[in-house]
Amino acid sequence: MLQETAEVSCPYCGETIAILLDLSVEEQSYIEDCSVCCQPMTVSYRTEDGELAELNVEAAG
Ligand SMILES: [Zn+2]
Repeated sequence: MLQETAEVSCPYCGETIAILLDLSVEEQSYIEDCSVCCQPMTVSYRTEDGELAELNVEAAG
């Protein structure tokens, strides 16, 4: 399985957290709780040829 860890800034608390991305999926959007403040954020990303092309994190509330 093609996986990559990416570091993003939480839109709520601003902490840098590591999230695990599955790069075998071309496009994905899901809700993940921040591991620091536990607020739900929307993680969306796009891949090209198994490489991360775009990554976006925003507040889900
Ligand atoms: Zn947070």
